[in-house]
Amino acid sequence: MFSARRIVNQIGPLFAALIFVAIGLGVLQGTERFATDARWVSHTNEVIARIDEIEARLRDAESAQRGYLLTGQVDYLAEYQSGKTQLPELFSNINVLVRDNPMQRQRIVQLRTLIDHRLRQTDNVVRIYQAQGQAAAQAAIGTDARITSDAIRRQARLMAEAEQALLVERAASSDRSALLLKGLAIAGIPFGIAVIAMVYVLMIREIRGRGRAEHQTIEANARLTASVEELEHTGADLRELSHFASMLQSCVQVDEALALTTQLMERLLPGTGGTVYRIRASKDYAEAMAHWGTLVAPSAQMLPPDQCWALRRGQPQLVHGPGDTVRCRHIESTVGATACIPLNAQGNQLGFLYVSSADDAFLSRVQLIETAAEQLAMALSNLQLQERLRIQSIREPLTGLFNRRYLEESLSRELSRCERRGLPLAVMMLDLDHFKRFNDTHGHPGGDALLAGFGKLLQSLSREEDIACRYGGEEFTLILPEAAPQAALARAEQIRAAVEAMRVQHLGKDLPPVTVSIGLAFAPDDGGDPESLVRHADRALYKAKSRGRNRVESNRDPRQSTDVSVAI
Ligand code: GH3
Ligand code: MG
Ligand code: MG
Repeated sequence: MFSARRIVNQIGPLFAALIFVAIGLGVLQGTERFATDARWVSHTNEVIARIDEIEARLRDAESAQRGYLLTGQVDYLAEYQSGKTQLPELFSNINVLVRDNPMQRQRIVQLRTLIDHRLRQTDNVVRIYQAQGQAAAQAAIGTDARITSDAIRRQARLMAEAEQALLVERAASSDRSALLLKGLAIAGIPFGIAVIAMVYVLMIREIRGRGRAEHQTIEANARLTASVEELEHTGADLRELSHFASMLQSCVQVDEALALTTQLMERLLPGTGGTVYRIRASKDYAEAMAHWGTLVAPSAQMLPPDQCWALRRGQPQLVHGPGDTVRCRHIESTVGATACIPLNAQGNQLGFLYVSSADDAFLSRVQLIETAAEQLAMALSNLQLQERLRIQSIREPLTGLFNRRYLEESLSRELSRCERRGLPLAVMMLDLDHFKRFNDTHGHPGGDALLAGFGKLLQSLSREEDIACRYGGEEFTLILPEAAPQAALARAEQIRAAVEAMRVQHLGKDLPPVTVSIGLAFAPDDGGDPESLVRHADRALYKAKSRGRNRVESNRDPRQSTDVSVAI
């Protein structure tokens, strides 16, 4: 169809041009014919006029001759002579006119012969008149003159008729060419116009088609450019994400992972503001941990997980604008576009990313945010696992206190730190009194419950910087960095009293109260290394046991020690 149209488009104008050339040639030829015909008409008229003139001149000469014969006036004779002398020129004119018509030329020769004959007759009569007088001249005219004159008239008519016949013939030919021209025009012009119209319509369609094709090409180009830009953009995004992922793997703390995430979001989602929420270990609240940009729609600092649709459904919750879909209750504004992207890893919900912006364009890049969220969730999950493992490796499960290995590490570290800064340190050894008996009476599980209760109490009576450990069995150690002996003794006394007052429940019943003996050692007085400190504390504990239990002892009298008073 398309190629047929092309062929018509290419051949059509040629065909139409041929038709118009044919018409043009016909018109040219017709015009020439008309001109020729017109020339012939005027030529014929001229020939006829010349014949008439020859006849007229002859008649003039004859009537002048008759005038001379009747009056004898020489004027008539002069007129007769002058009329005669004009005839040769007229003949030479007419000869030129009919030079291409042999028949007419022959007739002219005949006419001239007749006229010459007639003039010889008139000349003869004149001569007789002049020599013998009027009567003789009248007699000489005779019948010859009339016969010659009739012959001349017939010859002239014959010639005029021949010219007329030629004229008629030429008019008929002219009519035929006019008819042909008319036919050509009547048939050719509409046909040519129709072809041109068809070509015009097809060309318009072609132009429109080309316009459409051009438009489509421009659109395709624009799409291609956009795709290339998108690809470049996507390439840059992927590079960012891959860098992010590799950086996350090297994070050792949650804060580092969160800082990397906010930096990434600022780069990937310019013009947005957002928050990284983490669900607390107790799973009761999600808490804002890190921010980027400016939040168009602020969100709560802490929220129960069921306030966020993304956490409820485990899927992104996207809101393009006011009235789009339901907004989470933690979002404190109805303006702008928002996205909540859950942080899920290994089936656990760890939190979510909250993004807000005045413009919803960022939502087209939600997959990018989801990928970043996946990577962050994975990193958080790994860090949590590491933390758990670390805690498991340094904490003791029954009491939740640090284990002996950690005690040894941290005692050595804290000792060096305090020594560097010229600060004291105290080590407290605690041992539950008659615990074997307690175990025997209330069973091992009862003993465990008491140990756990004691662990909690010890922790609650410790400062942030203190390190409470289970040394082994029912023996415990408390490291008190920067604590002076009096303060440490006071704290030991506080703990002793608190244990005495402690009530622990087991199987719905209160276990009987227990007591604890405490031995104290002080750095630097009792030594600067962990072993000697622990040894001194142990000795003091032994002293406490031997002095009746439920008491606090140290190897030195605290009142004599070089005191660095640091309040606890
Ligand atoms: P003392 O007043 O001299 O310290 O007497 P005691 O009975 O506490 O002394 P001893 O060190 O001989 O006994 C310690 C007991 O603690 C022995 C053991 O049964 C008990 N014990 C050690 N570890 C655990 C534990 O993890 N759970 C329980 N239930 N009991 C433990
Ligand atoms: Mg013991
Ligand atoms: Mg004991």
